[in-house]
Amino acid sequence: MSQGIARAVTGSTDLRPALRSRALTAWLWLAAAGAALGPSPTGAAEAIQLTPVAQGIYVYTGPHADASGGNLGAVGNLAIVIGGESVALIDSGGSLAFGRQLRAALEEITDLPVSHVINTHVHPDHLLGNAAFASPTVEFVGHRRLGAALAARAAFYLEAGARNIGPEFAGTTVVGPTLEVADSIHINLGGRVLKVTAHATAHTDNDLTVFDRRTRTLFAGDLVFVERLPIVDGSLKGWLAVMDDLRAVPAVRVVPGHGPASARWPGALQAQERYLRAVLRDVRAEIAAGGTIENAIGWVASEERTKWARFAEDHPRNVTASFTELEWE
Ligand SMILES: [Zn+2]
Repeated sequence: MSQGIARAVTGSTDLRPALRSRALTAWLWLAAAGAALGPSPTGAAEAIQLTPVAQGIYVYTGPHADASGGNLGAVGNLAIVIGGESVALIDSGGSLAFGRQLRAALEEITDLPVSHVINTHVHPDHLLGNAAFASPTVEFVGHRRLGAALAARAAFYLEAGARNIGPEFAGTTVVGPTLEVADSIHINLGGRVLKVTAHATAHTDNDLTVFDRRTRTLFAGDLVFVERLPIVDGSLKGWLAVMDDLRAVPAVRVVPGHGPASARWPGALQAQERYLRAVLRDVRAEIAAGGTIENAIGWVASEERTKWARFAEDHPRNVTASFTELEWE
């Protein structure tokens, strides 16, 4: 499977020469997990299921699970958008091994080259497949704060990936952004323009969304969770504010960061907003009553318990983060 990267590099000479020099500034975090993990996995790439959701758009849907050897860390959704001249990948999965499988699946559906890998945010299930697409002709697009977030977390992510995914994680490295988005930019794939927007702190402090005007499809990353409990790793109040901005996006469908391949827009926001507002309301009540985080975990938003996958696993940390955020407001 090691020929994946070699082909990506050597096959690049005739593609988008203008991008080559900029892409060379890509930094690679080479605290490679592979050395400690023994031999690289062998065997042919397995087929990855890609669901078509609109013209030229394919989505991989991650399972509602922890990262493991079975899922190669790819527990979030990701999308492929095919333009007239090139392809954009929106997130890349949770390991080099998964990224290579994704690359093989992508090459089954188009001969066009990947010109952009857009990372919606720092979480490892969304970007640790980047290295499978590393090439002088590929731009890695991220929020202006993504680089700093990766610098702070990369060592931890690689350590956790090696522990949770095991030998299949070998060779995984962190590839950071070569093109940073401060406000918004447009990416032209050849007759198809994607608008990439950087948001204020919400799910994380480095969330990006992508809007495809042609099909009115919004790629929300983890700013939109469906079915799986939302995780607050940025700001509860910030996320509710960003959701107000997102609601104005003239989309007909959303590809959420977790959940089905696509869902109706803006209806897909409803459950997430109900949960986050319940957390806000109840944590404020606990604080007003002079209570504690421990007590809050026991009752805050408890009516949501049966409505989400992963509630038991992830709700306590949301309450803890929200309590800390709201304590001094
Ligand atoms: Zn996330």
